[in-house]
Amino acid sequence: MARGGGVLVAGAGVAGVTAARALRARGHAVTLLDPGPLPHPLAASTDVSKAVRLEYGADGAYTALGERALEGWRRFNADEGERFFHETGVLFLRRGPMVPGGFEHDSHTTLVARGHRPERLDHAGLGARFPAWGGGGYTDGFFHALGGWVESGRALARWIARASREGVALREGASLARVEDGDGASVTVALRDGQRLTGDSLVLALGAWTPWYLTALAPALRSTGHPVFHLRPREPERFTGERFPVFGAAIAETGWYGFPLHPTAGVVKIARHGVGRAMHPEDPARAVTDEERAALGEFLAGSLPWLADAAVVSTRVCLYCDTHDGHFWIDRDPSRPRVVVAAGDSGHGYKFAPVLGDWIADVVEGAPAEPRWRWRPEVTAGRTEEAARRVDDGG
Ligand SMILES: Cc1cc2nc3c(=O)[nH]c(=O)nc-3n(C[C@H](O)[C@H](O)[C@H](O)COP(=O)(O)OP(=O)(O)OC[C@H]3O[C@@H](n4cnc5c(N)ncnc54)[C@H](O)[C@@H]3O)c2cc1C
Repeated sequence: MARGGGVLVAGAGVAGVTAARALRARGHAVTLLDPGPLPHPLAASTDVSKAVRLEYGADGAYTALGERALEGWRRFNADEGERFFHETGVLFLRRGPMVPGGFEHDSHTTLVARGHRPERLDHAGLGARFPAWGGGGYTDGFFHALGGWVESGRALARWIARASREGVALREGASLARVEDGDGASVTVALRDGQRLTGDSLVLALGAWTPWYLTALAPALRSTGHPVFHLRPREPERFTGERFPVFGAAIAETGWYGFPLHPTAGVVKIARHGVGRAMHPEDPARAVTDEERAALGEFLAGSLPWLADAAVVSTRVCLYCDTHDGHFWIDRDPSRPRVVVAAGDSGHGYKFAPVLGDWIADVVEGAPAEPRWRWRPEVTAGRTEEAARRVDDGG
């Protein structure tokens, strides 16, 4: 048994790696475990891109957190001397007028109330400014110059390398099997290879694997799969960032959102922020279905005719660790006070990476959880409060 002391962190996705770095920066000895290879190919964090938006409908609290994260992304680019975060701005569109209570209207109102200046767009303005949308029948919405997208997998790989240089003991290949205790002076975990590690605290940052390890939380946390498509457009110049920024196409009703042409991969990513399908992260049937492909075809034909005949060069099913209310889960296990669970991303956590690690480290160091991210096993049903999320899967 290795009596390392310090903090054990299980899971090297964006939650685990940023927590490990924040705790290390505060002087803790930190051991980071992950079965690897890193970045793990099945991890939600490992993707070509993730959107960074301030738009959360009427929920000014997430918009405020997004503003802090945005500063962090710009600093990250500056510190690294290269661009991981592409500030293309974001476009949120709808067919028909923006209405109170709707994601676009309420986001626009929240942004203006916070001093931002989103640019309202009608059909003509949209077609003139962002020609790929000309034939899609969208008649209202706005472009907001703040925000864009980040090369998530590449950023994660950079943070993992930095964590090692900063003194985080990286145990790639080490897989947590179970937590043995954690209510006394220390916490011990057993690894799949039979080893056991002991530390002062444990952070479980297992993403969509969480409900499969903490089965008592299974009613409150679910792993759901969501389709992602990578398309190679016939006319890539139509989809570069300044002409085709990150978008949501009536996202709260349709779930559809997407990204500009990826500068190196040469693909346009389109995905759906919807209900998803319940599945285990390592489910062999983790693949996009014919229905999901057909739904994409229908969306493109109706919204983005310039992409309707683009080749789908790759697909992926990526998993959320879903809470029923759509809020994160970052809190101490009341029955094992040396164990902190950082999960519940509900498909919208990556953008907060620049500030996420400190949120988790605060709880490890004894700070109370954010009320909406508290330990809440009683919340086993209900409608998501994440305003951009589509809630019914009526096809
Ligand atoms: C399709 C899709 C699109 C998304 N788009 C966006 C977006 O545009 N913007 C945004 O902000 N967010 C987005 N998200 C959400 C974002 O990806 C997540 O919030 C974030 O990546 C979750 O990170 P994580 O570290 O919690 O989990 P993960 O990245 O999944 O990492 C979990 C880690 O746990 C490890 N692990 C598993 N089992 C064990 C074990 N036994 N022992 C040790 N380690 C283990 C895994 O190997 C993995 O590395 C999206 C998510 C999906 C699925």
